[in-house]
Amino acid sequence: MITGNFEYHQPGSIPEAVALLSKLGDDARVIAGGHSLIPTMKLRLAMPEHLIDLQAVKELRKISVSGGEVCIGAMTTQAELIASEELHKAAPIVRETSLQIADPQVRYMGTLGGNVANGDPGNDMPALMQCLDASFTLSGPDGERTVNAREFYEAAYFTARDDLEILTEIRFPAYSGGYAYEKQKRKIGDYATAAAAVLLTKGADGSCEQASIALTNLSDTPLFCEEASRQLVSDGLDSASVNSAVASAMGQIDPVDDNRGPAEFKRHAAAIILRRAIQQAWARA
Ligand SMILES: Cc1cc2nc3c(=O)[nH]c(=O)nc-3n(C[C@H](O)[C@H](O)[C@H](O)COP(=O)(O)OP(=O)(O)OC[C@H]3O[C@@H](n4cnc5c(N)ncnc54)[C@H](O)[C@@H]3O)c2cc1C
Repeated sequence: MITGNFEYHQPGSIPEAVALLSKLGDDARVIAGGHSLIPTMKLRLAMPEHLIDLQAVKELRKISVSGGEVCIGAMTTQAELIASEELHKAAPIVRETSLQIADPQVRYMGTLGGNVANGDPGNDMPALMQCLDASFTLSGPDGERTVNAREFYEAAYFTARDDLEILTEIRFPAYSGGYAYEKQKRKIGDYATAAAAVLLTKGADGSCEQASIALTNLSDTPLFCEEASRQLVSDGLDSASVNSAVASAMGQIDPVDDNRGPAEFKRHAAAIILRRAIQQAWARA
């Protein structure tokens, strides 16, 4: 349970980190909080020859809200997301979700960037970012580009990020409507058996003006449920419409049997969790 040998690098800026990664190529990995990468290295599932530690890149650690847009640096920890009152006012669902990740020790080290870049279907932040319609800024040898969270995830641990790119920022619109992140897990600190992020906006006439639904750990990628979201806006929030939207979302999931239970149980849990999240978000809208 010890890692292979590696050389340690600590760049002080984004250009320095990008240049190092470009130079070292496939033999290098960036490390953020290390809470996913180090266990993988201890199991020798990853054996990078070079680790590029982003801890000293100060510009990657920030939270700002300006002109209705939230911008979070990739190295911002989950504990910092929870502590920020400014972020809580702009998007309260972020604190609600972060508080359901692991335990305080993990949250003090685990970063938003590491959580979304890893491509682990069990991570909670990817579905949240799809629900918030976030975009990811990637910096690489050819410059900077932006990828929408809803197009970022390709398969388990495969994303649109090129190996030579570093995720620098996460941006999404501030959101003042109803929200809920509901998570079914076996015990405190565990990854989701099923989880759902829901945002709903209520209009002056009581109708649903905007809806956004995304699911965690029910497929090999997070799932943005476009059709189910659209249905809530067109058909409303009575129980028949909610049932129909939940059924539509369940049509997208593809859970597998594992130590969190058989796929059939996960389907059952997912429908309950999603219905609960919709009801909670609507009550808060
Ligand atoms: C016991 C335990 C329980 C956990 N439970 C949960 C849970 O319930 N829900 C949940 O969501 N998460 C959970 N996690 C994961 C944790 O919250 C971290 O988010 C996760 O480990 C990744 O963040 P990190 O900063 O540690 O990334 P690291 O482990 O440092 O990196 C992870 C991967 O992302 C890459 N990477 C990191 N940052 C960047 C970047 N800026 N640009 C490009 N690539 C990058 C690395 O190269 C590596 O491949 C748990 C972790 C542990 C150890």
